[in-house]
Amino acid sequence: MRDCAHSEARYYQGNTLAGILFIISAPSGSGKSTLVNHLRSLVTDIDFSVSYTTRAPRRTEQPGREYYYTSPAKFEEMIQRDEFLEWALVFDNYYGTARRSLTDAQAAGKDLLLDIDVQGAGQVREKIPDAVSIFVLPPNPGELAARLRNRSIEEGSLDEQEIGRRLAKARGEIEAYRQYRYILVNDKLDYAVESLTAIVIAERAMRQGAQPDPETARMMQLADKCRQANATERLEPVLASFGLIDMHATRA
Ligand code: ADP
Ligand code: 5GP
Repeated sequence: MRDCAHSEARYYQGNTLAGILFIISAPSGSGKSTLVNHLRSLVTDIDFSVSYTTRAPRRTEQPGREYYYTSPAKFEEMIQRDEFLEWALVFDNYYGTARRSLTDAQAAGKDLLLDIDVQGAGQVREKIPDAVSIFVLPPNPGELAARLRNRSIEEGSLDEQEIGRRLAKARGEIEAYRQYRYILVNDKLDYAVESLTAIVIAERAMRQGAQPDPETARMMQLADKCRQANATERLEPVLASFGLIDMHATRA
């Protein structure tokens, strides 16, 4: 993290155009929350939407910080009142983004980042087609299992059944990568953090349209490598490890 942390001032973009909606999705355990937490400390003028969920808080989570925790009945009332921009059932629990997150960010003149699953991302893309979508991938199933297990241990609740469910779901979720503009393989954390930061900076710079300074130009190049069309070399080994493509066939 040293490189990214040391560049903090460099990433400060005090005078950006308002209103980019970023969506980030990943199979559970890929490291998405870790990446987003780093991004929060590196980039200003971006709000992070706090979702509603009916799942119980983890030991390390605080109400209103990671999620607003609510009952299924209250969540269903919010659905009836059309208060959600999107919502989905994930692992038998409701998760949803309140419309208010978007209007608050717009009123404050800020960008907004939604950390949501692939179903929710599809709903948002339909409503807001120019949303910038980012898909985070773990390097391979073994590493994903290890991360899920480590997180469970950190939280003091090793639930092998829950880990198994999340692993089984990952393969299907990964197939949705095609619907995303950017692909991030989270193997080396520093590089993944810098790439995510670069995507935010590049999208802002593209909307501003001004001649980029050298550092912004470097970040734009880095972001460009993460565009889905340019990420094949990084992507293929991951897809192969999850049994989604045959590397020998694609290379033949
Ligand atoms: P997600 O939000 O995608 O469910 P988390 O951010 O909670 O995943 O990360 C799951 C676990 O993996 C955590 O214990 C985290 O510290 C660890 N982790 C995240 N990124 C990396 C990485 N690049 N290398 C090794 N471990 C990582
Ligand atoms: P977790 O329980 O691990 O925090 O999250 C499980 C999954 O729910 C993750 O894929 C996460 O991105 C997704 N999620 C979190 N908030 C929302 C939301 O508001 N809407 C949708 N559709 N998914 C969400």
